Amino acid sequence: MSVQKFQAVRGMNDVLPAEAPAWTFLEDTLRRWLSQYGYREIRTPVVEPTGLFIRSIGEVTDIVEKEMYTFVDNLNGETLTLRPEATASCVRMAVQHNLLYEGPQRLWYMGPMFRHERPQKGRYRQFHQCGAEALGFAGPDADAELILMTARLWTMLGLQDVSLQINSIGSPDCRQKHRMQLIDYFGQHVQDLDEDSRRRLQSNPLRILDSKNPGMAALIEGAPKLADMLDDASAAHFESLQALLRAAGIPFQVNHRLVRGLDYYNATVFEWVTPLLGAQSTICGGGRYDGLVAQLGGKPTPACGFAMGLERLLALLQETRAAPIPEPRPDIYVVYQGEAAAQTAFLAADEVRAAGLTAILHCGGGNFKAQLRRADASGADYALIFGEDEVRDGQASLKPLRGQGAQTTLPLDQAIQLLKM
Ligand code: ATP
Ligand code: MG
Repeated sequence: MSVQKFQAVRGMNDVLPAEAPAWTFLEDTLRRWLSQYGYREIRTPVVEPTGLFIRSIGEVTDIVEKEMYTFVDNLNGETLTLRPEATASCVRMAVQHNLLYEGPQRLWYMGPMFRHERPQKGRYRQFHQCGAEALGFAGPDADAELILMTARLWTMLGLQDVSLQINSIGSPDCRQKHRMQLIDYFGQHVQDLDEDSRRRLQSNPLRILDSKNPGMAALIEGAPKLADMLDDASAAHFESLQALLRAAGIPFQVNHRLVRGLDYYNATVFEWVTPLLGAQSTICGGGRYDGLVAQLGGKPTPACGFAMGLERLLALLQETRAAPIPEPRPDIYVVYQGEAAAQTAFLAADEVRAAGLTAILHCGGGNFKAQLRRADASGADYALIFGEDEVRDGQASLKPLRGQGAQTTLPLDQAIQLLKM
């Protein structure tokens, strides 16, 4: 009888030991970077009430219409959703705990998100985002700082071939005017619309601009531009943002087609894109969402933020980073032979660790030659050897594995002193 082997859920990835160092490197860099800008970490549940996402992301969006993992909790009948993004959770948290009464907040999060999409390179059903949210900041300096931050991160990571696109999608009022024009324009080309777009024509025509269907590109290109009817406040905000970016020496492209796939944005929107990841070209997206806090029951509070996809960042790191990501290596690998040596080696390995070093104890026997092969494969700098002679003399042999001189025999505490230098 064959035993069933299980597979991970489609589109949800394991991180194997060989892949983990790249994740750790990225996460460590992100933490260091975020704290440099005064952002504080938050952690929110992976599951939220479904209504939170419908209210914030918007009913007529790809995420809410077809990508959410929504289920009914059998035990109490509540309708819940695995979070597809975390801005809504962050704002929910800030409102629930009255964080904004303490003043503006710079917050960040990192963790898994869930969207039922067609899995492909750079697009998964469980993926990871790191995001920053600046709550309570109205001026374009906050938008500019977020962008400046991300530019600094690409430098810290050694990423190349990323470019910045920005746009302003204006106030809700001017979007309303734009909406009427879009309904008019696309209404005259109904026969050229794909099924999704036809459905969205009345309910959310802005989303048609966000379509990823290449067959729609020409039609979208000719659509009325929001830029031509931008309200004065948004236009001034956008001008100031651009001036700040120029002052900071950050190149950008104004892309009037950039609208982002979530309804909560207004005024500034931006994306960092790369030509190196095929269709999954956006590594980071963000913008302003001045209405969201009030929409989720808080006092009206301007805000902006971004989120970046860690899988895409890692893929890009692999493509473009010059220096390899360092793999952690043990300081020593402890090998031994004989009954008496087994106990000595066991205790010695832990003494080494107590001194703050990394030690791997060879468990499972074998001759010295085979053990030393393992020691070498472990990446350790030294093998610490306990044979009959060493145990009898109360000593250890330290064998350099990376061409750092000859093997020496000495008392364990001296060996540790040597290793710590
Ligand atoms: P896309 O246009 O590629 O679908 P999006 O606009 O839906 O992205 P956002 O909601 O803005 O994405 O999320 C921010 C970032 O999270 C994206 O720029 C991307 O790097 C990453 N991301 C989004 N969806 C996925 C996914 N399914 N798998 C991996 N990364 C993702
Ligand atoms: Mg998407």
